[in-house]
Amino acid sequence: MSAPASLARELACTGCGATYPLTYRLECAACRGLLELRYDLETLRCRGPALLEGRGLWRYASVLPVADPAHRVSLGEGDTPLLDCPRLARDLGVQSLAIKFEGANPTGTVKDRSSATAIGAALQFGFRAISVVSTGNAGSSIAAYAARAGLRSFIFAYERASAPKVLHMAATASDFVVYSGGYDDLIGPWDRLAGEGLFFDGGASRNAYKHEGKKTLAYEIAEQSGWTPPDVVVAPVAVGETFIAAARGFREMETAGWIARRPRMIAAQATRANPVSRAFREGGPVAPVTIGYTVAEGLAAGNPGRKGEWVLRLLREDKGLAGDAEDEAILAAQRRLARTEGIWAGPTGVATLAVLAGMLERREVDPGQRFCVVVTETGLKTEAALPARGGTAFDDASLRRLVEERLRR
Ligand SMILES: [Zn+2]
Repeated sequence: MSAPASLARELACTGCGATYPLTYRLECAACRGLLELRYDLETLRCRGPALLEGRGLWRYASVLPVADPAHRVSLGEGDTPLLDCPRLARDLGVQSLAIKFEGANPTGTVKDRSSATAIGAALQFGFRAISVVSTGNAGSSIAAYAARAGLRSFIFAYERASAPKVLHMAATASDFVVYSGGYDDLIGPWDRLAGEGLFFDGGASRNAYKHEGKKTLAYEIAEQSGWTPPDVVVAPVAVGETFIAAARGFREMETAGWIARRPRMIAAQATRANPVSRAFREGGPVAPVTIGYTVAEGLAAGNPGRKGEWVLRLLREDKGLAGDAEDEAILAAQRRLARTEGIWAGPTGVATLAVLAGMLERREVDPGQRFCVVVTETGLKTEAALPARGGTAFDDASLRRLVEERLRR
């Protein structure tokens, strides 16, 4: 089978517009702005979705920056279900709602999309090691993809990461280091080291090649909707990688004429880590906030830096919305999704649903629209207090009595 060629053509600065060839570069030499990848949109327009080939994330290789098919490492990521959720929609009082369930990825999170392109680009540029500072999901995902490609992985893990995430990272990373304090405490020194090129930057704050993998989220949502995407897409924001990548994907498809109109985007945060949502509400720039613990571990970033500003710009340009949800509302959304639709997601993953539920209650969004909520992680990596589970010994009669009695309720 022939593999589709990458249509990536250059890097462009989101600040001053300077362009660069496709080398490993983390920021603009002129203004230190963040870079984004640009593609041959003319070919995208002419060929249309016919240029897609195969399954999973690399089906969209044309709009990803990994040129050599030998570098397109895979664990079976992408092609996650877009689940129509009629019972949840009724429960929330909306006409149509679908969940894009990213917990179905190989390591249980949306991170596998960006890990695939990060590792692909690391191979492309001749790196032998990659590193990331992580609250859990990114660490286990980068470690897994690095192992798959035979690269070394320096995984710096949050000391309060859940036990299943720690187990996963410790098992797959070549170099597993637990740091004290929060993500915001380590990211400064780590970013400076990453800038020296000792390892490939597997972080969420700067690397255009890495975050590009998450763009496929938008392409899949559009293709699974028959190229008529939902009216509204709700995506989470920690540093902003998933949100920006998805928004970029929808814009790209609109420009290339693959979809008639891009969805309106809602940015979702945890109230305990809400610098973007707060800035959106107050109309100012993103100011770092000092954060404590939130059950949505993956959203625990109080200083999203320039990517936070990028999210704000996209929201303001597209008349998007931003909101946040308290931990209690996030845990309620987790139970609600499990009970109404059988989808078991982690707190980081369901903050989006909690934020949408709050907006619907306050009538900030029109319930007549078609909604898509991105749920970024499986619940199987969650660590929480177990429900009471004192066992009962049953015989035929007592077992029958219990079931019949429950069914009458
Ligand atoms: Zn620049």
